[in-house]
Amino acid sequence: MSETPKSVAIIGANLAGGWAADTLRQKGFEGDIFLIGEEPDPPYERPPLSKDLLLHPDAMPKTLFLHDLDYYAQQRITLQLGVRASKLDLPGRRVELANGGQISADRIILCTGGDARKLPIPGSELPQVHCLRTLADSRAIAAGLAPGKSVVVVGGGVIGLEVAASAAKAGCKVTVLEAAPGLMTRVVTPEIGNFLLHCHRAEGVDIRLGQGIAAILGARAVQAVETGDGTRIDADMVVLGVGIDPADALARDAGIATDNGVIVDAHCRTSVAEIFAAGDVANQPNPYLGGRVRLENVQNAQNQGAAAAEAILGSTAPFEELPYFWTDQFDLNVQAAGDTLHADQTILRGTLESRAFSVFYLDQGAVKGVLTVNQPKDMAHGRRMIMRHLRPDPAALADPGSDLRQIIKAAS
Ligand SMILES: Cc1cc2nc3c(=O)[nH]c(=O)nc-3n(C[C@H](O)[C@H](O)[C@H](O)COP(=O)(O)OP(=O)(O)OC[C@H]3O[C@@H](n4cnc5c(N)ncnc54)[C@H](O)[C@@H]3O)c2cc1C
Repeated sequence: MSETPKSVAIIGANLAGGWAADTLRQKGFEGDIFLIGEEPDPPYERPPLSKDLLLHPDAMPKTLFLHDLDYYAQQRITLQLGVRASKLDLPGRRVELANGGQISADRIILCTGGDARKLPIPGSELPQVHCLRTLADSRAIAAGLAPGKSVVVVGGGVIGLEVAASAAKAGCKVTVLEAAPGLMTRVVTPEIGNFLLHCHRAEGVDIRLGQGIAAILGARAVQAVETGDGTRIDADMVVLGVGIDPADALARDAGIATDNGVIVDAHCRTSVAEIFAAGDVANQPNPYLGGRVRLENVQNAQNQGAAAAEAILGSTAPFEELPYFWTDQFDLNVQAAGDTLHADQTILRGTLESRAFSVFYLDQGAVKGVLTVNQPKDMAHGRRMIMRHLRPDPAALADPGSDLRQIIKAAS
């Protein structure tokens, strides 16, 4: 493998891809950069899509797009939008495009993210059935939100609950169907799931746990859904929030190792040395969680995209990301870092009733995870404790009047 690549092609022009391209230039790469994206828009932030943009689809925040189009030209980043990369020719180091074009590059970074999962049930092709991944999806859902409309959200994960909160704020009658016995079970403990359940129900969201969807009813438009136990729920719109599948087919078809995403090492390198991957599609060893993990959040997409670029430029530092995500639902800002599912000691700082508290997750005395609700300042301190493997005094941690900086100092 030559040490100094002259060209890099990045497939997938969103967060990971955008950050990879930026980082290459900022770190002094002078060669050609190609950024190829299937969506019509340049890289943008998806978080507002399920939050403010559902309520105010015309009030696009200035910060939605990473950069305006001029920036890419100024940086000599060749942006090709609205075109799908259809094949990787590895021996030829060539990306084939669905429009017949081809791009040759010394290195390729796969930043293809994930595709919102659909459900193969009767009625799922009706026009008022939506997934939520892109700006276009968000606009289509926003157009159907109006006071008095009935919205059924399938999935009580982060995206489903954010959509439920936004739809309820818009005055819709909202039902959430969640097949699992709790909410957000992939990322929070049953106690936090119950807290969220209570908050959503208090806002009038009808949450039905242990309930899947069997069919969507209606001839030309959605009229109702039928749940697994045969219950009929009236609906004007159905939003599916049932997760994403990593968009790893391009890599797999080219013979690159995949398993729930593109397998990469600590340097974002795939099983083929000149090909890298980053963002929602990349499955990487994570020292904080132990084992491999495919993270689906903004912080990881940005930092891993940047790390792939740096690895291409010769960095030998392993990418070690502390898993972190946030979600906004009604007046709740929930943030979580590290391992918030497995702990031998859980310390609550504050009370659930106050709707402003933090939870520290300890394993043999060391902080492994932290979750905050409307306490963003505690998150910064909690992250520090995790990254420094600190063993703080549990009693002090539990006292909401104590100073976390002092606790960190004492444990350092
Ligand atoms: C509605 C919503 C709300 C979210 N809210 C939060 C939040 O509050 N906090 C948080 O941390 N995270 C949030 N996320 C997650 C976060 O947005 C993702 O983790 C992040 O977008 C991942 O970036 P990515 O670049 O890896 O992948 P993506 O954003 O999925 O981008 C991949 C891009 O690649 C393109 N692509 C795929 N295949 C090809 C191909 N063959 N050729 C060309 N282009 C291709 C796709 O069209 C897409 O544009 C949210 C996600 C959604 C959908």
